[in-house]
Amino acid sequence: MIFSIIKFMEVANQIFFVVFGVITLAIVLSTIPQFQSPRVDWPSIYWPLSTSFYAISALSFGLALWVNKFLLTIANTSLLMSSIALICLYRSWNGKPFNKIETLLIWLLPLGIAILYEPLRTAPDTFHQRVALITLTLEVLIVWQLLELIKFYKKEGSRIVGWLTLITLLTLIGNVFRTYQILTGDGPTNIFLYTEEPFALALRWLTYATNIIAFVALGVFYLQKQISKENKIINDLSIFKNENQKITELLKEKERLIYGLMKANKTAATGALSASIAHELNQPLGASNLNIQFLKMKLEKGVINPELGKEILDSLEEDNKRAATIVKSLRSIFTDGQTNAQEAQLGDLVAKVLDIVKPELKSKNIQIQLSVDDDLPIKVNSAEIEQVILNLLNNAIQALANSGTLQRRIAIEAMKVGNSVHLSVSDNGTGVPEDFQSRLFELLNSTKQTGMGLGLWLCKHIVTRYSGSIHYEDAIGGGARFIVELPLAKWP
Ligand code: ADP
Repeated sequence: MIFSIIKFMEVANQIFFVVFGVITLAIVLSTIPQFQSPRVDWPSIYWPLSTSFYAISALSFGLALWVNKFLLTIANTSLLMSSIALICLYRSWNGKPFNKIETLLIWLLPLGIAILYEPLRTAPDTFHQRVALITLTLEVLIVWQLLELIKFYKKEGSRIVGWLTLITLLTLIGNVFRTYQILTGDGPTNIFLYTEEPFALALRWLTYATNIIAFVALGVFYLQKQISKENKIINDLSIFKNENQKITELLKEKERLIYGLMKANKTAATGALSASIAHELNQPLGASNLNIQFLKMKLEKGVINPELGKEILDSLEEDNKRAATIVKSLRSIFTDGQTNAQEAQLGDLVAKVLDIVKPELKSKNIQIQLSVDDDLPIKVNSAEIEQVILNLLNNAIQALANSGTLQRRIAIEAMKVGNSVHLSVSDNGTGVPEDFQSRLFELLNSTKQTGMGLGLWLCKHIVTRYSGSIHYEDAIGGGARFIVELPLAKWP
């Protein structure tokens, strides 16, 4: 009867070990998704490693009597290895992983213990020695775990680490009591752990349970870490969203500013255009005035003959026509949103602008080289394209006036290229410095003291309104060259 109870206990214990082994194995499997999900912070590999050793240990304990008793050596070695993996894990948390030599030494320890254990296992009456060898080593390792955990708890102070420390302490207490119980008790020494005293056995199961809870707690630790990381990301995202909104508002504000500037530029450009037109008008008006004075004087004296009268009137008519042409080019630069595009000849627009800047060219002693092909129809608002040409010419005139060039020259070329018209304005001034070229068409970029950096930006703005483009290149032989490309209004 007594024999059969012992036998029953033995089998029940083995089954318990196997069950614990299977549970631990399930914990190992449950760690796999944590290593598969894309995450910033991966869990340490020592966590599943330690759990795996523990599973091997429990299964080996459970199967040893049924399969081979050598499994007891494997079980005890794995138990120590599981503990060592936990030390490695906690040290990595503390930012102090073992170096290569330390790693080698610490992993050799269970091997050394296994070598000592194996002869004890096969020798009779050695239960106490075996327990002493394994549990004392294990307890030293658990104390080490505790020290590392306390260090980490002090640093991080998270609740789950506190629990983990407590569970590890319980494991240690359980182990110490069990060791004490077996070594000081007068129980038989020719037994296996399956038949050890009930109290020692109970402590053994307690340490198994606390260990399994520790593995689960480790899972919770990593899960919490992941959740707090995700929360931080969500938080960052909402901050980013807010900032994005602010940026969008700022961009809208910028749009409004640019629109305002565009209007301001329209006034400024119209002002400049009016100023040059007024300047131009002075000349035909002055000439007309002289002719009128002359005619008046002759009429008062009554000495006017029909030929002279006709000659003076013809001249007056001519001056008048010129004035009218100039006044005609005074148009609204922008009609908000609408382009009012009409077919125009590029040559005519160039000629109109040249008319406007003629006095400026003359006074600054600048030569114009004109090579504009006939029949270059474009569908645009003439006033706007005139503004583009005027800006380019004004820039070239200013660049030449500020340069030391003696033979000042501006070349205007226009021709058909494929389905578009290319207009280039080049000068032999100083050109645009290379580091400034990339910002040339940006708003408010100017190298001039009185410049506003609006002209070229406006040119680009206008040209793109007509599906065209503008770019810069250094002129051959030095100087600047701006090329405007516009689609042909019709092509053969
Ligand atoms: P602003 O003339 O008011 O400075 P622009 O947008 O018309 O504004 O020109 C921007 C800058 O491009 C000028 O300040 C000048 O440095 C440079 N630039 C434009 N055209 C020429 C040119 N023909 N030669 C040299 N530099 C030029």
